Amino acid sequence: MPVEWKMHEHNRSDASEFIKSPKGGDMGQSVNQDDRHAGGCACGAIRFKTTGAPKFVANCHCRDCRRCTGAAFSTWVGFKDEQINWTRQRATYESSTGVTRGYCKDCGTPLTYQGEKWAGETHLLIGVFNDPDSFTPAGSVFDDEALPWAKP
Ligand SMILES: [Zn+2]
Ligand SMILES: [Zn+2]
Repeated sequence: MPVEWKMHEHNRSDASEFIKSPKGGDMGQSVNQDDRHAGGCACGAIRFKTTGAPKFVANCHCRDCRRCTGAAFSTWVGFKDEQINWTRQRATYESSTGVTRGYCKDCGTPLTYQGEKWAGETHLLIGVFNDPDSFTPAGSVFDDEALPWAKP
């Protein structure tokens, strides 16, 4: 498992206690530069294309992701910045120090997470892909903050 994924703790510096082992399997994606995906926000103002396999796919149960997405938990698909091409700039919100979340200011769709700890990476919410069924989470983080009915 990539170290980067283990460190996908989103907001805290003392992440070690929150890190859980993945539920099995590898990261689920083979390295293949022909692996292309696309997606965008609900209104279509912002669209993107990705090239190559994601670095990780994981569920995050942290409170900040919950608040910023409005969903019970978030499934993130992590890419290096250079693997993603955007048609338009995202509006941004700094949800905590060093953490920038991107969204569409026209329709409000949450799109991305970028953190200082993962410099050079952009994590995309699985639901904004045209083909979300292409990705399978390999594990989860912040399980202790999960809603009772969503405990991994
Ligand atoms: Zn939009
Ligand atoms: Zn999170």
